[in-house]
Amino acid sequence: MPEGPSVKRFQLLCTPFVGQKVTKVGGSTKQMNPEELKSLMLCDTQVHGKNLFLAFGAIQEVTSDCRNQSPGRSSDGPAGQGTAASGVGCFPTQQEKNEGAPSDPERHLQEEEQASSPFLKADADEHPWKWLHFHFGLYGSIRANEFARANKANKRGDWNDPIPRLVLHFNDQGLLVFYNCRIRPCSSPTTQPATDILSPAFDQEQALAALCEATPVCYTLLDQRYFSGLGNVIKNEVLYLARIQPLSLGSLLAPSDRQSVLGHAVRFSLEWLNSKLKGERLHLQIYGKDRCPSGHEVQKGTFGPRDGLKRLTWWCPQCQPCRLPEEMPPPHGTRDA
Ligand SMILES: [Zn+2]
Repeated sequence: MPEGPSVKRFQLLCTPFVGQKVTKVGGSTKQMNPEELKSLMLCDTQVHGKNLFLAFGAIQEVTSDCRNQSPGRSSDGPAGQGTAASGVGCFPTQQEKNEGAPSDPERHLQEEEQASSPFLKADADEHPWKWLHFHFGLYGSIRANEFARANKANKRGDWNDPIPRLVLHFNDQGLLVFYNCRIRPCSSPTTQPATDILSPAFDQEQALAALCEATPVCYTLLDQRYFSGLGNVIKNEVLYLARIQPLSLGSLLAPSDRQSVLGHAVRFSLEWLNSKLKGERLHLQIYGKDRCPSGHEVQKGTFGPRDGLKRLTWWCPQCQPCRLPEEMPPPHGTRDA
């Protein structure tokens, strides 16, 4: 399943289409009716951890006030230019802003405010948005202006391209294509920046408190209540970087070790996002490896809470020495040598 940095990148792929009208739809999804999105405008995008939320709303009529202020203006600017508001049809072009600025600063302040919001809030109250919640599967992804192509043959030897769940064509000829995701209408996005590992508002104190619990640290890191967006790749890499054995109980770690886990979790997630935005591959140290960067043999096990998901975990017994007391009962899960 794509982790926080991937989903954040998906959001950034969608952002240029905010303010544009959906002109054609397609896709195999049965979880919602894509036809309902036709003629609506993409109004807003939000992300929380591994969840993406897109808002769609009715395109507003150009008000007579706007028509009077901007006679004959055209809304076919270049794709993605400006803000969400460009599709609404009552915001000034950059040239109009420059020309009018000295004469009516208050009006332009208001326009800046409107232009910085995804849509006219007052109108949004009258014409509520449809929010869609996207949750991605293991190979879930979003493509902008292209379809995914098969990169290998299936079991029968056929080269079939992946089937998109949803395809949205926009009025600037661009398109967004969604693969392997669950799509669910929702009343509003459930975002909690305090628990989102990639958010500037991420609450490190709260996350540190969670790491103090008498729980294996590899379980706590995957707990989306405290580390939303943190997935199995980040978990394995962070524990290697912090030199912590995955099943170490948080309560037995030194405060400096807990701080190290937290620091690496935030840094690694941001670095991963940055490398994705640059189109670079991130060099992993331990995830899926047979040997650690120091050449030691890596161990692998499947660990998870008794009532939760068990995930493959890699660690180096030499770089990440065990901190479990000898008499501790065996943890839940299985260990492969
Ligand atoms: Zn090692």
